[in-house]
Amino acid sequence: MSTRTRRLSRRGLLKRGALAASAGAALLAPSAVSTLSAQAPAVITRRRFKGWISRGAGTGRTTLHELTLRPITGRQVVVRTEATNLCYSNVGAVLGLQPDARVAAAPASALAAPTGVRRMNDMAVIQGHGGVGVVEAVGPEVRRVQVGDRVCVSGTPHCGSCYRCLRGRSDMCQFLSAIGADDLVPIADMADGTPVFENSHIGGLAELMVTFEEWVVPVFTKAEAVALGMVCSCVSVAGLGASVTHALAVIEPGSIVAVVGCGPLGLSAVQGARIAGASTIIAIDPVAARREVARRVGATHVLDPNVDASTLVQRVRALSAGPTDRLWAGGRNPAGRRPGAGPDVVIEAAGADLVAPRVEASPDPTGILPVQQAYQMCGLGGHLITTSLVRGDITLPGTLFTIGGVTHHGGQAGGASPMRDIPRFVELLDKGQFDWKSLATTVVPLEKMLEGYEAAAYRTTITAIMTA
Ligand SMILES: [Zn+2]
Ligand SMILES: [Zn+2]
Repeated sequence: MSTRTRRLSRRGLLKRGALAASAGAALLAPSAVSTLSAQAPAVITRRRFKGWISRGAGTGRTTLHELTLRPITGRQVVVRTEATNLCYSNVGAVLGLQPDARVAAAPASALAAPTGVRRMNDMAVIQGHGGVGVVEAVGPEVRRVQVGDRVCVSGTPHCGSCYRCLRGRSDMCQFLSAIGADDLVPIADMADGTPVFENSHIGGLAELMVTFEEWVVPVFTKAEAVALGMVCSCVSVAGLGASVTHALAVIEPGSIVAVVGCGPLGLSAVQGARIAGASTIIAIDPVAARREVARRVGATHVLDPNVDASTLVQRVRALSAGPTDRLWAGGRNPAGRRPGAGPDVVIEAAGADLVAPRVEASPDPTGILPVQQAYQMCGLGGHLITTSLVRGDITLPGTLFTIGGVTHHGGQAGGASPMRDIPRFVELLDKGQFDWKSLATTVVPLEKMLEGYEAAAYRTTITAIMTA
């Protein structure tokens, strides 16, 4: 009996095995195979392209050259650039301009790139950190994108498998922190044989971007290049990341939000707060033209921090007091030892002046004061999201910091997770919820990149976009 049972059982197992095998064969139809196996590498040899090379010191360090692409391997992706944002953070590297003495004297960032054998200034580097374009070639190990795909080359990578990515913080993907001069790989050669590298493995100020799979996000849209370049720029991704993804803090419908600093990042955050359903959006910036745009894209109130900087916090509190200060009626007190009024969420996006602006200057060129004010204006129990690059150390009232009830969130890209969030930002663009035209105020072709960068550097425009 036991033998028979066993025999039957074995026969049954074999039968089931055969069924499973045929089901497996059905699963391995051509379409399924293509999603499971590696792509055939696109063969490209010695492709010539134009790119801006930065090296050496001082102004004039960035010049246009014809370059020759090196062979593509592994997880590398070649993207034909359509548009790229001329990011303010790269002003020094591209234009070789120096900040004023007060900013230059501030302590260096603890997050500076690791030092190594090579020095970035001695290397031929294509600056920029991302953009949008079309995939022209892929290495044999690439799965995420295919030749012909339109992609965002993200300023932050998203590998999906490192410690931080696995814990839901792919804005802090560990592939980002490894970047230093020694980590970069040459992607092309200059006419004299000098190897060419790219800022952050991605570059952008060239007709081609050569990057790795973890930096590219496929986007399925017919949006025009400049519009797509705007919404996929590092600044808009960070502004929308801080406001619509709810990755760091939740903007609830009807809530009160303040945005400190209305460059392209802050103005994207203003739009995100509007999209998220905030009822009061207070935008703060020293530049009148930027406050005007803030109103156009969703701010309900605008404030100039130069008009009595010492009262800015109180003015924001007064604007966020709500309809009543009667505590028994659900109200909030706008003053007192522990004022209850204040924004539910404050998004700080000011940052240091990398060069003196040719428009209204901020009260503090190091960017420290706006962070302190942003912390102090936040309502008790509220959330502060910081996104800027400042120079120096921040001092805050100790007890406010320890028991004041403000939760601070820092991170890259406003907490945005590239593969999860960038496609949804593109949806906001395609559905007309994100106003790109008010933000992309200067558009230049590749050959005029330096002119566009100057407009960004001196803050005479909001965003400068280069098309290639
Ligand atoms: Zn940037
Ligand atoms: Zn990762």
